[in-house]
Amino acid sequence: MTEWWRRTQRIVQTNLRLIDGTLDSERLAADVAAFGATAMLFNVGGIFAWYPTELALQAKNPKLEGDLLGRMIDAAHRHDIRFIGRYDLSKATQLAYDAHPEWFCHARDGRPFEYNGTYQACVNGGWYHHQGIQVLKESLGRYDIDGLFFNMFGYLSTDYSYKQYGLCHCENCRREFRAFSGEDLPVHTDVSDRLYRTYLRFQETTSRTLADEIYDVIKSVRPNVAVSNMGRKSDFFRGEVNRRLDRARPEWVHLSGEEARNFRSLGGGRTRYSSALTHFIDFPWRYSAETGAAQALRLAQQLANGADPHYYFMGTLEQADRKPLPAVRVIFDYHRANEALYGDLESAARVALYTSHKSRRYHPRRGASVAAFRGAYRALVDAGIVFDTIHDLRAGEADFAEAHNRYDTIILSGAGCMSEAEAKSLDAFVEAGGTLLMVGDAASYDEMGEALPQNRLNSRPFDEVEEVLEDMRGAYVRVGAGAVGGLDSDLILLDGAYRRVTPKAGASTLYSILLPQRFGPPELCYPDPELGSNLPGVLQASYGKGQAIYVPWNVDMLYHEHGLLEHRALMAQLALKLAPAKISLSAPRRLEMTVQRHRESGDLVVHLVNYSGQNDNCYDEPIAIHDMELLLDLPVASCHALVADQILAIEGKSGERRTVKLPPISYFEAIRFRMLERDA
Ligand SMILES: [Zn+2]
Repeated sequence: MTEWWRRTQRIVQTNLRLIDGTLDSERLAADVAAFGATAMLFNVGGIFAWYPTELALQAKNPKLEGDLLGRMIDAAHRHDIRFIGRYDLSKATQLAYDAHPEWFCHARDGRPFEYNGTYQACVNGGWYHHQGIQVLKESLGRYDIDGLFFNMFGYLSTDYSYKQYGLCHCENCRREFRAFSGEDLPVHTDVSDRLYRTYLRFQETTSRTLADEIYDVIKSVRPNVAVSNMGRKSDFFRGEVNRRLDRARPEWVHLSGEEARNFRSLGGGRTRYSSALTHFIDFPWRYSAETGAAQALRLAQQLANGADPHYYFMGTLEQADRKPLPAVRVIFDYHRANEALYGDLESAARVALYTSHKSRRYHPRRGASVAAFRGAYRALVDAGIVFDTIHDLRAGEADFAEAHNRYDTIILSGAGCMSEAEAKSLDAFVEAGGTLLMVGDAASYDEMGEALPQNRLNSRPFDEVEEVLEDMRGAYVRVGAGAVGGLDSDLILLDGAYRRVTPKAGASTLYSILLPQRFGPPELCYPDPELGSNLPGVLQASYGKGQAIYVPWNVDMLYHEHGLLEHRALMAQLALKLAPAKISLSAPRRLEMTVQRHRESGDLVVHLVNYSGQNDNCYDEPIAIHDMELLLDLPVASCHALVADQILAIEGKSGERRTVKLPPISYFEAIRFRMLERDA
């Protein structure tokens, strides 16, 4: 029989409060089942034990009545709900702190990271490595737990109020970091500081060692339990989609879809994944909820990208603010009705956007790496291009390079930092016939954020970077009317850096650059012919059987910054330059499109997610989108709109482009196509 965690699930997470120590387990199990869930998260241990623990340093919930955990697991199983234990080893109470202060994080001035009487545990201390292991052994030894999730696992330097504590300076950290690097802990927490980057690598290495240790203990006690978020060994992935006051506003509206795409890549398309949608706005207001429209937009992005639905409450399902729940229930019900389909989907995207975790962590301008990635992501969504992400954390896997070959085009935006192995895999992809679209500083830094003397990609369409013109404010790209997205404009605005390169022999160039122009006073603002140049806007050259295209300026970041149609159109045009899409939308406005394939039947499933309810940081009910058509260059036999539950007519002759008129789209629609022949 298939392991339960390899099947699609609908998950409800309960984050329990002390007052829930007397909750009615039968009632909660019935509520979770009625919500349509097949699995639930429920507290087990760590900060507080939700069972009668015998470990002296693990505080028991003082309001606990008998063996709540045992009752809850029985009730969940009676309702055919899988029980995922929620552990929080990130903190402990005064009890443990007083006995072993050396297990916990301390700031440079020696003060502990204390919050409401709880103490932040250090990754290098005994709370994780000794006591945490005891908690796991005790609870897993006694209870029939199906899966595990760890809250806030690893290094944290802020608390729930987003107060900054800096780096942990406990004895263990000082000693271990000296052994790792030969140096004292860094004073500056600026990523441009080499020692700080070494510290970031120390964090990664020690976290991984701890995760491996914990995973092995779990499997030694209970081999058939599923463990989430333990790197390569994960049995399933669990992310979280939330708002945070310490992030720039408006929130990144694509967080939900981006997490899903990244998990799909990290798990090689085989490991199941979900991201818990936080019911509430942010920590300070745990009982004020997002709107139904906000949650529906998050859920629709997840279904469109293969994730399981997952919803997260504080405590039980009885909530003071219930407004999003009808919308969430509708989508849970829809997923249940179509479970056989959603349990067996793979992506059918032919374009991939590279996710460079290294650039977000080690790049000297890591904020710019995020902006470039997001600009590209949004340009692809807004242009109606179907895409996956490729996560660089998979670069160590045996099939990493091979997995590239399912794409026609791979895009490097915000991918400045790159290891040799990654560069090799991308060069091989181009050599075999793929198209690589490189933007800005792609592959200009090593995996630790050190600038490279030579770009890492052999497939690049240039030899050398001669100069980086750092400030191009006031410059333009001269394109010619209609050349980009059919827009009637001769110019595209250019800002930020431009990399002056020597094109490779045989490289072709597109467009030209107008160097920064005077922009004041108005009398002096006219095109100065002397500021024209023959610097190219885009370069392209073949490599093996494929092609590399290079944009030596940040078209991606500019779309992130200004949202101009010309930057989006140029990204889209280059992404599809050598491999046009076989499925497209007549007008991809305020819709995200994805295409997945049902493995068993070979049917294609097109999801269309409606973003029209989003207005900056306000999420209102979306406006139904009418009169949309899908254009198909594929041999389709029949077509069914799953949300509207309608069979749709396919117009046009076989062998030619076919069109399908879509019913009005509210939160989202999913169109299932039966194929005349299995698509490659
Ligand atoms: Zn420490």
